[in-house]
Amino acid sequence: MSACQSTQLKTFNTFGISANADHICTVTSIESLVALWHEAMEKHQPILLLGGGSNVLFTENFKGTVILNRILGIDIKESETAWHIHVGAGENWHGLITYLLKQQIYGLENLALIPGNVGSAPIQNIGAYGIEFKNVCEYVDFVELKTGNSIRLTADECQFAYRDSIFKYQYKDGYAITSVGLRLHKAWEPILTYGALVHFSRENVTPDQIFDAVCEMRQSKLPDPAVMGNAGSFFKNPIISAELAQKIKLEYPTCPQYYQNEESVKVAAGWLIDQCHLKGYSIGDAAVHTQQALVLINKGNASGQDVIALAAHVRNEVAKKFNIFLEPEVRFIGSEGEIDAVECIS
Ligand SMILES: Cc1cc2nc3c(=O)[nH]c(=O)nc-3n(C[C@H](O)[C@H](O)[C@H](O)COP(=O)(O)OP(=O)(O)OC[C@H]3O[C@@H](n4cnc5c(N)ncnc54)[C@H](O)[C@@H]3O)c2cc1C
Repeated sequence: MSACQSTQLKTFNTFGISANADHICTVTSIESLVALWHEAMEKHQPILLLGGGSNVLFTENFKGTVILNRILGIDIKESETAWHIHVGAGENWHGLITYLLKQQIYGLENLALIPGNVGSAPIQNIGAYGIEFKNVCEYVDFVELKTGNSIRLTADECQFAYRDSIFKYQYKDGYAITSVGLRLHKAWEPILTYGALVHFSRENVTPDQIFDAVCEMRQSKLPDPAVMGNAGSFFKNPIISAELAQKIKLEYPTCPQYYQNEESVKVAAGWLIDQCHLKGYSIGDAAVHTQQALVLINKGNASGQDVIALAAHVRNEVAKKFNIFLEPEVRFIGSEGEIDAVECIS
């Protein structure tokens, strides 16, 4: 089934940017998704697939059809050692976690409260508090829209990396993720490496305690998009050469750095932005959040162009001070589809 509705995108992106689309349609089956894609192609209209709209920035009006993927369903099977969960791409990610917790199926607690849909989780390999999607992924199903053929990739074939996967490159245009398969071990192991989680004891912590602690940390640190438009971390944490990292550490011993391998080190982008004294800095209604420098917010009526100008300023200031060039984690959507975010802010 597909249903088309109003053309204002403001309520369909967590940044709360006002932009129009020619059509906004909801699909609840693979068949209707494929049919809608063909209909748009015949009319030479661009197509944009959208889940929860929590990782996009609309830079202008979209001159085509936005398809809201609402293919639902949660199917749970078990083997001797694990739960195998097949989930429709249109299910809400946090809703899935709370549902599984109620069924006493554990392993996703650390990823609680990440906004958006299940089908988007593999695309940037979502991660938080010591876990990434790739750690729980068994497979990803997607459809080639032109032929209607369904394809399944194993987790290994998805080429997951930090905020990255094959779905940003080889299977980007002309493909839609329709479901994912998760494997959660029955022998639950808590992951307590980050934030307030380090204070729990491995021996007696429960999944519900981790879930509650993660929700509490996120709610205290991140602005709620329902109250203040944002798309979470605006920039990726840059991975820089060990040499540059060492130089920065000598000058700024408190700089948070995470060892990747002998040649590279990940640096906290929020810390870099904060060192440039940019918290609260604004252009139009777009601003750097006052508590969390990595988050750019919409104070009310920011346009996509305001956010671009602000992001360009942040990138510039960080580059001047540290010789590090930040790259957006958020995907930029122009009038005909995704545009190069780095180019936009360079
Ligand atoms: C407050 C806040 C906190 C956040 N915290 C985190 C965090 O801790 N960790 C983290 O990793 N991310 C975080 N994010 C980012 C975001 O939640 C994730 O990237 C999420 O997976 C995006 O899901 P979505 O459904 O909203 O994707 P959307 O924004 O709807 O889409 C993202 C991209 O995927 C494409 N797409 C969507 N659905 C499909 C599909 N079915 N098939 C093919 N392509 C598709 C879209 O075209 C777009 O390019 C946060 C965002 C916010 C607002």
